[in-house]
Amino acid sequence: MENRKPGYTTKMLTAPYAKKDPFNSLHMPVYETAAFEFDTSEDIAAAFQDKKPAHAYSRSSNPSVEYLESKVVAATGGRAALAMASGMAAISTTILALVRPGENIIASPNLFGHTYGLFSKTLPDLGIEVRFCNLLDPASLGTSIDNKTKLVFFETVTNPQLEVVNIEELVKVARRNKLLVLADSTLTPFNVFDAKSYGIDLEVMSSTKFISGGATSVGGIIVDTGVNDWSGEEILAPLYEKKKGMALIAKLRKEIFRHFGPAMSPRTAQLQSMGLDILALRVERSFTNCMKLAEHLTGHPGIKKVTYPGMPGSEFYELSKKQFNGVPGTLLTFDLDSEESCFAFMNKLLIIRRATNMNDNKSLIIHPWSTIYFEYPESKRIELGVRDTMIRLSVGIEDIDDLIEDIEQALK
Ligand code: PLP
Repeated sequence: MENRKPGYTTKMLTAPYAKKDPFNSLHMPVYETAAFEFDTSEDIAAAFQDKKPAHAYSRSSNPSVEYLESKVVAATGGRAALAMASGMAAISTTILALVRPGENIIASPNLFGHTYGLFSKTLPDLGIEVRFCNLLDPASLGTSIDNKTKLVFFETVTNPQLEVVNIEELVKVARRNKLLVLADSTLTPFNVFDAKSYGIDLEVMSSTKFISGGATSVGGIIVDTGVNDWSGEEILAPLYEKKKGMALIAKLRKEIFRHFGPAMSPRTAQLQSMGLDILALRVERSFTNCMKLAEHLTGHPGIKKVTYPGMPGSEFYELSKKQFNGVPGTLLTFDLDSEESCFAFMNKLLIIRRATNMNDNKSLIIHPWSTIYFEYPESKRIELGVRDTMIRLSVGIEDIDDLIEDIEQALK
């Protein structure tokens, strides 16, 4: 291993604990406790005064959660990571740490439904404007950017539209305009997408998905990729003096995250830590299944349209190969001729489950129009790239012949 760095899975399986377990447990124990005891008053004061690193209270930090964070750092080569209660907590706390009322951010409207809700309702209520733009054409962003624009947010593969932006071009435009770049990489986990190599400042993701090891738990992760030294961020200036490159993480941990309180539970951290160990295996199997299903469904009588950016016919195929090693997630969508046909088809499925999640071991199916996007008027849903004829399938790791047979019998 002298000249070669270990691969993703080896790194996960050999990640050291911060402190050796006294019983030599082969797995990091779960520190299921709210608080930690100190030997002396001086020690507890030193911990509170940031003079001696120590865990004091599990809303702020916990050894099991810290272990998961350290594995994420090993996986990404980033500077630091923070794990929290959900993907939405990761997105919202990151934006609240960096953007003030009166400022604005840029995003595509084609987003996961609740992120769209955060951007179109909650952030504006807090005085933060979101300017919805076409990120597929980064050169067109100039007119939407002004001196109050702080960052550009994008999903590496949008859910459920399955669009892929040209990240290199987007980062160039952001740099020219001194904007931070924040990527939601939920659909493209660490083993297929290297955010740091694209110059992305921050990565956020729902660890509920691939990372949780098969939908074991809800969680979210923020990665400071280390691309930005934070010296130019006025909002971080008071912390930068002391914390330098760790200024953003300190702002999150000591202010936003601590004060809003979306902590990840130690048990969730253990499940997600184990999820990281088997992530590459699960992604590989889901991807193989996803490609086979996309091929099987394409041109199938009764199916109007199949969307998967990993298919050679997709307009996003070349970008997917370049940016995600050819693995643009394992979600696909297809259209039947009406909402009624979608419901009838889904009701007949025996192996594929009707559920709202993705990257479970089980294949999951949903009709986004009548569920995740239901709260929006029809015209808005159409604008957001959601159709009443569209079904979203998250492809799991079942045996492919069984998945194909299930779909075939449901289509009859
Ligand atoms: N980002 C994307 C792309 C998602 O698909 C989701 C959830 O499906 C989230 C963020 C939110 O994650 P969570 O449900 O863990 O809050």
